[in-house]
Amino acid sequence: MTALSPTLGINERVAALRADGMRIHHLGFGQSPFPAPPRLVEALRRHAAETAYLPVAGLGALREAVAEHQRRLTGHDPGAFDVLVGPGSKALLFAIQMAIPGDLLLPVPSWVSYAPQAALLGQTVVPVPTRLDGGDYRIDPDALGRTIHDARDAGRRPTKLLLNFPNNPAGLTIENDSLAALAAVCRTEGVALVSDEIYGRVAHAGPYRSAGPVWPEGAIVTTGLSKHLSLGGWRVGVALVPKARSGLFGALRHIASETWSCVAAPVQHAAVEAYRGHADVETHVADCTAIHAAVTGHLARGLERLGVDCPAPRGGFYAWPDFTRALGERFDDSDALAAALFDEVRVAALPGRSFGEAERRLTLRLAACDYDGAAALERYRGLERGGRAAPALGAELAPGIDAALDAFARFIGP
Ligand code: PLP
Repeated sequence: MTALSPTLGINERVAALRADGMRIHHLGFGQSPFPAPPRLVEALRRHAAETAYLPVAGLGALREAVAEHQRRLTGHDPGAFDVLVGPGSKALLFAIQMAIPGDLLLPVPSWVSYAPQAALLGQTVVPVPTRLDGGDYRIDPDALGRTIHDARDAGRRPTKLLLNFPNNPAGLTIENDSLAALAAVCRTEGVALVSDEIYGRVAHAGPYRSAGPVWPEGAIVTTGLSKHLSLGGWRVGVALVPKARSGLFGALRHIASETWSCVAAPVQHAAVEAYRGHADVETHVADCTAIHAAVTGHLARGLERLGVDCPAPRGGFYAWPDFTRALGERFDDSDALAAALFDEVRVAALPGRSFGEAERRLTLRLAACDYDGAAALERYRGLERGGRAAPALGAELAPGIDAALDAFARFIGP
């Protein structure tokens, strides 16, 4: 296995072609485009001379700030979990999969890296069916139970379910009552629930909802700074590990100590300020999320107008259109669709197949991030003061989206 992850791979390919002068509508890479809040940049500068290794589990002040942040926003009792800081939640998800041997129950579609991580660890994936229903990403608890039993009957050993909401790729979320029902199945079946909440604060409407308080003894939550603060390159992720899962925190700390040792010290010091609830940082997060809502909503509505089925995104910066109705006659699978889209109209997008989608469904994962985030933020703040409604602003904030929609219109044809 030597290929890059599809998301990173497409980004490197587009960058190289753009450097050669090619014009591309880049909807392939989910990197939030906003600048870092000045308070965090200043904190990083102040701590740049810190050179010592920090404790493996993370800086004490950061772990405390994270615990308090989760309590404040989600009601998760800090007495119920330990915090582990890692170099991005991706590394933590890998460590969690390593620390809980056995097979992975994975909803379809799911983010591109979970299954390859399982494969690197010699674990197999047991697919769990989902239904995209209105704004929800639905997993039927009975179907989950059946999937677990069928897998066991077939000699597999499913030990953990990985949920991600708001979801990449679908842009949809899971409601609290569904979460509780899924947690109940996991509890009954002795299966761990791993909840990837990296987009938790990029929920377009309503607060950050977490599986942590729904099942404090059982849910392992991962999150970080990459998405709501556009700080992916800072590589800060956190895992909230239930104290009731005895031995798990120690196992994860052991993996950390034998691999990354600790996250960069200056970055951890700066990250403390990201979790303290400063008004300027919180306003920044709310404004960036409102812009993501406006831009992804504009993209999804535009595709619907072209006759493409596309659920209205409820979180994150993605749209998940299904071209089966519009282009089912022309293409056999989403790989062929994505390749033709690039060749014919220079739209870069990831095929649904990269996310585990069934071969014949013509879905694409579109990331609406290729715009000038600093300019959009400035514009949004100015327009907001003028009393304009955010959802109508997508086209003004990210002008490239209309150009991409024009390209889709040419591609689909009359
Ligand atoms: N989980 C999902 C669903 C993601 O989309 C990403 C990033 O693309 C990650 C986890 C990893 O984020 P990070 O390692 O930057 O915390």
